[in-house]
Amino acid sequence: MVSLTHVSAYLLRHRHDVTYFPQMQTGLQARLQNTHLKYSAPAGTNVTVLSHSLRLRPLSALAQGDRRTKPNIDWDSLGFGLKDVAGSMYTATWTEEKGWDAGSLQPYGPIPMMPSAQVLNYGQAIFEGMKAQYTVDGRIVIFRPDKNAERFAAGAQRLSMPVVPEAQFVNAVKSVVASNADWVPPQGKGSMYLRPVLMGSGPILGLGPAPSYTFLIYAAAVGSYFKGGQLTPIDLIVEEHFHRAAPGGMGGTKAAGNYSPVLVTQLNAKKNGYSDVVYLDAKSDTYLEEVSSCNIFIVKGKTIKTPPLQGTILPGVTRRSIIELARLRGYTVEEVPVPVTEAMEADEVFTTGTAVVVSSVGSLTYQGNKKQYTQNGQPGNVSLEMYTALTDIQTGKAADPADWVVKVL
Ligand SMILES: *Cc1c(COP(=O)(O)O)cnc(C)c1O
Repeated sequence: MVSLTHVSAYLLRHRHDVTYFPQMQTGLQARLQNTHLKYSAPAGTNVTVLSHSLRLRPLSALAQGDRRTKPNIDWDSLGFGLKDVAGSMYTATWTEEKGWDAGSLQPYGPIPMMPSAQVLNYGQAIFEGMKAQYTVDGRIVIFRPDKNAERFAAGAQRLSMPVVPEAQFVNAVKSVVASNADWVPPQGKGSMYLRPVLMGSGPILGLGPAPSYTFLIYAAAVGSYFKGGQLTPIDLIVEEHFHRAAPGGMGGTKAAGNYSPVLVTQLNAKKNGYSDVVYLDAKSDTYLEEVSSCNIFIVKGKTIKTPPLQGTILPGVTRRSIIELARLRGYTVEEVPVPVTEAMEADEVFTTGTAVVVSSVGSLTYQGNKKQYTQNGQPGNVSLEMYTALTDIQTGKAADPADWVVKVL
């Protein structure tokens, strides 16, 4: 039995490239014969073989300028953007009659959609953020992909979209990583950011769910947020006018629609010298919720507090991991409502998310008062401790007792 991941990994190991991956269905078998990959379905299975044979070319034979040749990336000046977008992307389609197809890899590029696509008119879309990186012992790994699959499924249900099965989600992520391994930065230089998207791509005029859906994953090489492992503290301001989410809304999902409304506050905060804003709860304007795309924690002595998940806060994979790691390290961690006034009295504040891992908060401004937590650009002790603890697991420097790290290659 093979999956797209296995095929990609195989081809990569043998320095082969393919211009086209066939539609692969569960139960399909593949074997390499000279320069052809042969497919067959095991006897007695109910599988349609869509492509019987696939011609392989050695990577060295590819013409100059081919998107799938080794990219020319300056690893020391990676930012967080699409400059070094990976050569191939994954797409799969869902229809009422067939459900999800197996998906395939193809060159990164435009996807066809009608002007009447549900997502363009009514916003049926969710996304994920993940990363693949090198460990110190030369493996390429991803982090707790089952958690992203779970959140993706919950988001799909909240927006009346078909769920991508966990196995298909994780295998698709692995196939994108494996086939774009040349875009994974050397250890310590950054990571390959992965962006799964699920959207109602089919056309519809009246308000309703789309007749068909697209699940895609693209990727790009991105730099470390903090060069040299130094966490530069960020200055945040508490937002006193806008809310990010309300009880009963969709704040707890990575719905595309949650992110454009925060731009007006974020851009305004940046103009005034802050990195971002902290949102308060919509009901009482009293309790911390989170930052535009990060969860928030406060520290007082050996107690760490973070707002509980009640539908308005995004259930971050980093948030969950930091809670578990902090408990193992002897901290008392409470998921309880955190009044903003308590945060203003805390020893330390930090935020968490896949891209930054842990970000130390230098200062918090609320109603014109500024609370300074850190001095001389140095990160808070607990922020640094938690950042180091988690990145050491992710990069294979420390033991991974709960199998959070998943090897791709
Ligand atoms: C993605 C995101 C986070 C962080 O989640 P991770 O799984 O840790 O990356 C936190 N808050 C919001 C609003 C987000 O979109």
